[in-house]
Amino acid sequence: MDEGDPQLSGGQAAFGAGIVEHGAATSVAPMRADEADGRVANRLRALPQIQRLLEHPEAVRLANASSRATVAAAFRTVLDRVRAEIRSGEVQTPAVADLVDRAEALIVADRLPGLRRAINATGVIVHTNLGRAPLATEALAAAAAAQGYCNREFDLEIGARGARAQSVEPLLCELTGAEAAAVVNNAAAAVLLGLSALAGGGEVIVSRGELVEIGGGFRIPDVIRQGGARLVEVGTTNKTRIEDYAAAITADTRVLLKVHQSNYRIVGFTEDTSLEALADLARARDLILMHDLGGGALIKLRGGERMHEPTVQDCLRAGADIVAFSGDKLMGGPQAGLLVGAAKAIAPLRRHPLMRALRLDKMSLAALEATLRLYRDPEMAIQRIPVLRMLAQTEAALNARARRLAQLLDGAADIEVESSQGYAGGGALPEQRLASWAVVLSHPEWTPDTLAAQLRRGRPGVVGRVGGDRLILDMLTVADEELIELAAAIRAALG
Ligand SMILES: *Cc1c(COP(=O)(O)O)cnc(C)c1O
Repeated sequence: MDEGDPQLSGGQAAFGAGIVEHGAATSVAPMRADEADGRVANRLRALPQIQRLLEHPEAVRLANASSRATVAAAFRTVLDRVRAEIRSGEVQTPAVADLVDRAEALIVADRLPGLRRAINATGVIVHTNLGRAPLATEALAAAAAAQGYCNREFDLEIGARGARAQSVEPLLCELTGAEAAAVVNNAAAAVLLGLSALAGGGEVIVSRGELVEIGGGFRIPDVIRQGGARLVEVGTTNKTRIEDYAAAITADTRVLLKVHQSNYRIVGFTEDTSLEALADLARARDLILMHDLGGGALIKLRGGERMHEPTVQDCLRAGADIVAFSGDKLMGGPQAGLLVGAAKAIAPLRRHPLMRALRLDKMSLAALEATLRLYRDPEMAIQRIPVLRMLAQTEAALNARARRLAQLLDGAADIEVESSQGYAGGGALPEQRLASWAVVLSHPEWTPDTLAAQLRRGRPGVVGRVGGDRLILDMLTVADEELIELAAAIRAALG
């Protein structure tokens, strides 16, 4: 789990699950320990050799279709598992035909790609477990064009080596109004690089209310330490004032760090320090003000009523010297960490040895550039970038989508169309729900977890959210183009 995403419905499908019960039997009479040991030993001894299994006609057929080595490896895995099952309890020695079946299931499962397409019906738009932001078509095309030879570090005009991110950084400056920009492979890397280059050997001051863990073990105190800086905590969990920062500044202080709380909110009796006040203090004391913004929206959405998240530009205008944010959260691009700000704050990052270690690969860089280009026309960005398009949907459109799915499912399942609530996800707006509509499934015999598992294991996998005794398929994150396929997947799962 990451960034406080709601639990995926149900557990993970275990590799080869569903075939482990072969030969299971329950004994009723109580048994002495040495007797049990003897039985286990006999059962283990009764297992056939791999050589004998390979002679089974079905195994010969499998070997002809793949290779003898593949089948032998599958038998080895199956025998290892069966031995463990026998040792752990009341499992009999399986029949040879069962062992062959299990080996075949392993071989078939192994041919499926590990990465499969999924339909996101969770209602969480930026879902870290489901690949975060789906890319715009333009970004995909750019990544495809970059996969062969390309002018990534070559200036085709003058025929000489060029800068790696030359096309992206000016674009970021143009869009955000920043003097300078740098890109690395995610926002965690951006924060690490920023702190290493700007505060290494010195002190970083952070409010106690912002010492958060973002997810996946990314904890602000650890990142500061890893960057070679000392953390100076100020204020309390619920209240930090500008005087707290001012009092903590010493000759060793390099950076004032403000961290977006992401998946976490302190509510009630609280007091926070504005970026503006921190910027004044940083300027007066000749320090750098760095803002780990996380989500990183580049535009306010139409009407703005759905998004009360400060944009990157807001943070720069408020006086942050450097703002770090993710490419694949609210920006809706590929995984990337973007740094924008004052030239004096960005320059040390470029010279730092970590820059090379954290650099973005050519396909992501191409997808990032294509995504950023779309932002030159905000209307275009909302139409073309899936995250923005989903955020901008009207309730009427979501309701129509739910009704259309219900129509496609006509009679095939117990369903209801209901209002629902989704989330932006990715640590943005954790307490702000997005009004949505859902198709809610129930089954006369299955629990909602069984229903969820059946849908997950289909092709494509469908991921919904369990609510009470039913499975909720939220239309906020489903595209109109996916409806026919989704209806077919639901029918297949139920059939
Ligand atoms: C999500 C987040 C990060 C990490 O971003 P990645 O792109 O996943 O590395 C860092 N800081 C904040 C505040 C975040 O919300």
